[in-house]
Amino acid sequence: MVYLAMAVKRYRYRAYPTGEQARMLARTFGCCRVVFNDFIAERDRLYQAGLHRDVSLTETARLVTTIAKTTPERAWLAEVSAAPLQQAAADAARAYRNFFASFAGKRRGPKMGLPSRKRRSHRQAARFTANTRFKILDTGRMGRGGSKWGKVRLPKIGDLKFIRSRDLPSNPTSVTTICEPDGTYWVSFVIDEPAVAPTPATRVAALDLGLTDLAAVVSVDPGTGDAVREKIPNLRPMKAAARRLARRQRSLARKQKGSANSAKARVRVARAHRKVRDLRADHHHKLAARLIRDHDLLVLETLALVGLGRTRLAKSMHDAGLGILIRFIKEKAENQGRTVARIGRWEPTTQTCSVCGKPGGKKPLHIREWTCEGCSTRLDRDYNAAVNILVAAGLAETLNACGPDIRHRLAGAVGNESGTRRTEATD
Ligand SMILES: [Zn+2]
Repeated sequence: MVYLAMAVKRYRYRAYPTGEQARMLARTFGCCRVVFNDFIAERDRLYQAGLHRDVSLTETARLVTTIAKTTPERAWLAEVSAAPLQQAAADAARAYRNFFASFAGKRRGPKMGLPSRKRRSHRQAARFTANTRFKILDTGRMGRGGSKWGKVRLPKIGDLKFIRSRDLPSNPTSVTTICEPDGTYWVSFVIDEPAVAPTPATRVAALDLGLTDLAAVVSVDPGTGDAVREKIPNLRPMKAAARRLARRQRSLARKQKGSANSAKARVRVARAHRKVRDLRADHHHKLAARLIRDHDLLVLETLALVGLGRTRLAKSMHDAGLGILIRFIKEKAENQGRTVARIGRWEPTTQTCSVCGKPGGKKPLHIREWTCEGCSTRLDRDYNAAVNILVAAGLAETLNACGPDIRHRLAGAVGNESGTRRTEATD
């Protein structure tokens, strides 16, 4: 095995706190939230007073943790473990640093806003780092053939039980305890793993991401001249679950605010939302894993995700989870030593004919096929865009190495379908 670099991996398990532990966790989450929000309030105050340049983020972190504990208003912070409070303050400081970097144009991606306050109704979390000396205890099985369980010993919480659905490969560097809005508890361990050298792959691929299909992929192997193309349908888990969700939302709306039944209905809504999220994440993980395993280089088009999110396509945009897919692809590529290249979003990938290079003008979204006026090729909109993305990334030579009719075969709407693979919608 060849070691390249360290990669961060998360292992998440369902946890089952006792009643007493759940109460202590709730207090810890609450204190973390207060520290985070105090941090923001203090930075706001400094900004209003024109003093924000004089006080460092580190000083503010100290003020809302160590110093706050000594005041009567915040004395109760001392009742929970100090480590997650320091992490909460560090998270707030990081959010400010990211915001400043983004503002100054030193950070890639969309412009970030000022960090906002954390609310009680959202996901609750508290992180324990290695210096808390948290410990994973010997584990057993629940009954004969039952699921394996483990325990993690946390300061002031005790031994928290979790279902060990898969083994931890080594000692984690931190553990985060989480309570989702649907009332389920989780522990998430962070592990630094040596990145494993990838199995050699010589294939390169370009992805045209979209909403009709999630992606049109063209994949070529310049060594053997093999070329395949594939459309990956959009899963749209939210659309599928919409009726169940709407029913639960209506049921929630009918309940009296603040009542026990209203709380139960809210948990049912949160659970339905989590199911949708899990389904989408699972699908995207598998797709990203397969693409990264098979290709040495993946080319993506930089999408105006934020812009699209504001149009009438926002709903399907969000449901497709293109941003999540891109993140998974990048993470897996980093872990496995593959390369992801991005081309600019102003490349006219949907307008140009990938066979002869003639510009065909702007095309509305419902036009799925068109005939090039230059070379009379009937083009598939998405495959044509994918081939153009490959070319825009400087891979024209690689493409040409696969034979003279390669562009026809990959971008054409009709004719040779032998290289086309269509994934089942049930994937
Ligand atoms: Zn043409």
